Amino acid sequence: MTKNGWQILPNCGKEAERLDIIVACDGASSVGQIGHMVAVKLTKEIEAARMCCITAIAAGSKLHVDIAKKSPKLIVINGCPLKCASKVVKDKGIKPYYEITVSEEGIEKVPTLDFDEKDVERISNKIINKIKEKN
Ligand code: SF4
Repeated sequence: MTKNGWQILPNCGKEAERLDIIVACDGASSVGQIGHMVAVKLTKEIEAARMCCITAIAAGSKLHVDIAKKSPKLIVINGCPLKCASKVVKDKGIKPYYEITVSEEGIEKVPTLDFDEKDVERISNKIINKIKEKN
């Protein structure tokens, strides 16, 4: 759904039943920010993909937990081996459809918010291929 050309995010679990929901740890590091930008890119470029707030899921917001739970394809993006995003969803009893950790894809974790756009492209393409593979 779009409004004024803006892509609208789901506001209930029912809408999420037909969407690929993406949660990223959004960590304060190069790899966390790559994960965030991948989630943004997929939301903007893939018709059925929508980012959801990982912090709201962690905080126990019923609405957001429901969105993550009802999505047939929940994609979880972690920055580093601590895998915070995966832990958050699993703590809520939600089984991800696909999990990826940016630092395990040959990208070094650096304590900076700067990153290489090419890495965003590469991780995005890997996730897109995974989504297609399972269609
Ligand atoms: S997974 Fe790593 S980068 Fe992401 S929030 Fe946790 S510690 Fe930070």
